[in-house]
Amino acid sequence: MRSLTALTENISSTPLIDSVTEPFMFPKLTAEQIERIAAHGVLRPITRGEVLIESGRYDVPFFIVKAGEIEVIRPSALDDLLIAIVRKDQFTGDISMILGRPALMRLRVSVPGEVVELTRDQMHALIQSDAEMSELLMTAFISRRIELVTRGIGDILLIGSAQSTATYRIKEFLTRNGHPFKYLNIDRDADVRDLLDRFGVDGGELPVLICRAGAVLKNPANQEIAECLGFNERIDQAQQRDVVIVGAGPAGLASAVYAASEGLDALVIEACSPGGQAGSSSKIENYLGFPTGISGKELAERAHAQAQKFGASVMIAKGAAGLTCEPKCHGVRLGDGAIISARTVIIATGARYRKPPLANIAEFEGAGVYYNATFMEEAQLGDGDEVIVVGGANSAGQAAVFLARAGRRVHLLVRSDSLSVSMSRYLVRRIEETPAIQVRTRTEIVALEGNGHLERVLWRDSTGAVTSQNIRHVFLMTGAVASTAWLDGCITLDSKGFIKTGPDLTRQDLAAAQWPLDRSPYLLETSRPGVFAVGDVRCGNVKRVASAVGEGSIAISFVHRMLAELGPISSAPPVGAYLERPNINVGV
Ligand SMILES: Cc1cc2nc3c(=O)[nH]c(=O)nc-3n(C[C@H](O)[C@H](O)[C@H](O)COP(=O)(O)OP(=O)(O)OC[C@H]3O[C@@H](n4cnc5c(N)ncnc54)[C@H](O)[C@@H]3O)c2cc1C
Repeated sequence: MRSLTALTENISSTPLIDSVTEPFMFPKLTAEQIERIAAHGVLRPITRGEVLIESGRYDVPFFIVKAGEIEVIRPSALDDLLIAIVRKDQFTGDISMILGRPALMRLRVSVPGEVVELTRDQMHALIQSDAEMSELLMTAFISRRIELVTRGIGDILLIGSAQSTATYRIKEFLTRNGHPFKYLNIDRDADVRDLLDRFGVDGGELPVLICRAGAVLKNPANQEIAECLGFNERIDQAQQRDVVIVGAGPAGLASAVYAASEGLDALVIEACSPGGQAGSSSKIENYLGFPTGISGKELAERAHAQAQKFGASVMIAKGAAGLTCEPKCHGVRLGDGAIISARTVIIATGARYRKPPLANIAEFEGAGVYYNATFMEEAQLGDGDEVIVVGGANSAGQAAVFLARAGRRVHLLVRSDSLSVSMSRYLVRRIEETPAIQVRTRTEIVALEGNGHLERVLWRDSTGAVTSQNIRHVFLMTGAVASTAWLDGCITLDSKGFIKTGPDLTRQDLAAAQWPLDRSPYLLETSRPGVFAVGDVRCGNVKRVASAVGEGSIAISFVHRMLAELGPISSAPPVGAYLERPNINVGV
């Protein structure tokens, strides 16, 4: 039987990452750069064995090694692991410092010497003011994190099963939040049971997440995971914000980047993970500036880090459950009842997947039924597995092309007569040129069968004939409905549930909503002054990443105008105070 440590990683006395040969992760600073940075901090000696940073600590300092060496160690309940050695002219740090999350690693001096030390705030100020250092540090931080995620080296261990929907959910949550973790599959490795015994966990309690410091979470909700990992620990919920942005898809993240970079106090509230629908795309090829495409996850990670670099706060796994419609102020109510006060609000809650009316669909979600097609879902497939993709829009086309790359047979089921009705020409052409993809028009799934995992799919074609095939994986890309139920009638919607803004709001809409101002609503403003809507959630929006990003950034110019109307905080009438004015002028 293998040892417990062998199950989790290969322990070695040499560092896992060689900092000498990794110029992106561990660049060497020039003497001039070090001098420039040193002006922001202090110079101090370091002694052998000194722990400069303990894992789990917040607001950790940033170090540049002038002489000596610092070990980067991943402590664990099982064994410590030497990740890298930071040498002369190199610097410490990881994206956690930017995201305001606790440190993943312990930093211990192995060779005494001297460092330049900056507090987290000093380091933040540096990257906001020095473009060259910003690029250098952010590239290193992001590369280091990507390496950890790729190698599965983190401060948590997930033990689960490929057959389990909950395991899939947790893996997706961690992956989309860019948090590195080690995964052990109980189906593939019987020795994992010894590990479970060690933590006092019964096989029936899977999936289990073993957090830093040994906290054991049995089938935790996303919110519990976020709490355990300290994602939201440093966010002050009592503070009134210039702008609260609900949703961290491309639209919400773009708003956050522009708001924070223009000096506004911005808070983003995200029900699940940053990236929204775009975060589930395997490759976005039509977004300006990425000629070879970019995965939605990477785009989301970069945007998330960018927003936080400028000082926006991003709250993870906390959904908005309501907008307070009282006349005195804007407030976004969270699921736990807490209310975040805001001078302006941007709604960027996008849309969520439409589910076909199949009675047992929930049983197979994550265990054969998926709403994304990325490397994560692909890892669930066996060699040569046939798959079904359902849908006729770009997301389905991308998924079919992505999944057929390895010659895998893909059935693309479309309700309409042809793909060209709703898919971009470039994707239709790519599908036509991929023999592994079989397009089945006017066809829909009528039943899913299986025991614990999807095993069989039944579909009906245009002749009415029903076919049954042993297929274990179905990717549903069947469009989305607006995420507006949480607004509970507070904001004017169109007949399909999307938010009306600016010129789409008719006189009747404004009268019904008691629009209180002399002016008309701004372009992206809803039926409530100071509340804006951007991206897929907005009626009339073109459902694309570029339009979401564009609207998210434009909205900030209207936020500035609204804040100017309100005046300085001390003398500002609360936004809703307008509602008390007796003469309603709906001058649109
Ligand atoms: C698989 C796929 C592939 C795609 N590929 C492309 C492509 O190649 N090119 C392209 O241009 N477009 C593509 N799209 C469309 C594009 O992703 C969307 O148009 C874009 O993501 C919309 O951005 P958004 O920010 O408006 O909304 P979303 O991306 O839907 O993000 C909304 C966010 O709000 C959060 N949220 C919802 N409700 C709440 C709440 N109550 N409280 C807090 N948070 C909440 C959600 O969790 C989500 O993160 C694709 C879409 C999919 C699904």
